[in-house]
Amino acid sequence: MEIKMNLTAAPKEKPTDESKLGFGKVFTDHMFVMDWDRATGWHDARIEPLAPLQLHPAATVLHYGLEIFEGMKAYRTAEGKVQLFRPTENVARMNRSAERMSMPQMDPEDMLQAIKTLVSVEKDWVPHGFGTSLYIRPFLIGNDETLGVHTLHHAKYVIICSPSGSYYAEGINPVKIMVEDEDVRAVRGGTGFAKCGGNYGAAQRAGERAETLGYTQVLWLDGVDRKYIEEVGAMNIMFKIDGKVVTPKLNGSILPGITRKSILELLRAEGKDPEERLISVDELIEAAENGKLEEAWGCGTAAVVSPVGWLYYKGKEYEINNGKIGPTTQGLYDKLTAIQWGKTEDKFGWIVPVE
Ligand SMILES: *Cc1c(COP(=O)(O)O)cnc(C)c1O
Repeated sequence: MEIKMNLTAAPKEKPTDESKLGFGKVFTDHMFVMDWDRATGWHDARIEPLAPLQLHPAATVLHYGLEIFEGMKAYRTAEGKVQLFRPTENVARMNRSAERMSMPQMDPEDMLQAIKTLVSVEKDWVPHGFGTSLYIRPFLIGNDETLGVHTLHHAKYVIICSPSGSYYAEGINPVKIMVEDEDVRAVRGGTGFAKCGGNYGAAQRAGERAETLGYTQVLWLDGVDRKYIEEVGAMNIMFKIDGKVVTPKLNGSILPGITRKSILELLRAEGKDPEERLISVDELIEAAENGKLEEAWGCGTAAVVSPVGWLYYKGKEYEINNGKIGPTTQGLYDKLTAIQWGKTEDKFGWIVPVE
């Protein structure tokens, strides 16, 4: 794929204090853009100065939610090299999301080339500290200029990058989560497994309610019986119950996280036998009540792992591991981040360098 380069003559000043970056607030100088028409396919791949997008007020994305995205990071090693973690997984998932939404798919090689080229252009924006990263956000929007609901004819693919601080600038502190037994995020047959903006729209209300009550995240139950655990906020969820790591199996309404997949592969490579199965909220609460719920953690690209210290369900709060991060959670965090930030040899072939 040919990528036209239109680089800025006036690069912005890079942030000097990495501890103040936060998440997704600062953006680099450029973005990747490519357009799609049903008649001509993908065309005009380009890297150009980051600027507001011009959209017709009737653009499909603004009315009917045709939007999908990805989230990944570029990591800087102690030697100064820049690398990606399993980017082909993001690329494949983006195409699965596109398929679900009847949006155009892309050549996986082209998608990877676009990501690598943009990160290479923005290399100096990748922060240096362990735990910091350049967050990469590819997204695809429906861009027909008509209010009619019909097959999509125009789309726009964009990638933006945001240097982000360490998720754990203040140490890995366990979070409080609340089981949501009213709203649901997704149902089987719906878009739960797709990384689409609409899923986040549906999740907003419960998230805000939980926050008002002092909980950071919502633990979602299945959309049919509100009985089985699905995921937590924008992360997958794992538990250690009676010595065994268990996580909800992918059922169509859960987002298939790459961090989730990597943790399962790590554990299996260590000869452990994590289970992917249905976990009812009743089983979880019973385990919490008789001391068998040893650890709980969310997992996703942003946080890597996020220990859960307290769980609220039907008027009661349950404490997990005395509100402290447990050894399995800590071990997984250490092993994954060591690979991502290049502190250890990558035996899995997960790392893709950016030249
Ligand atoms: C992105 C996402 C995850 C985590 O996926 P990773 O690939 O591990 O970052 C989990 N749940 C939801 C709803 C997500 O959007």
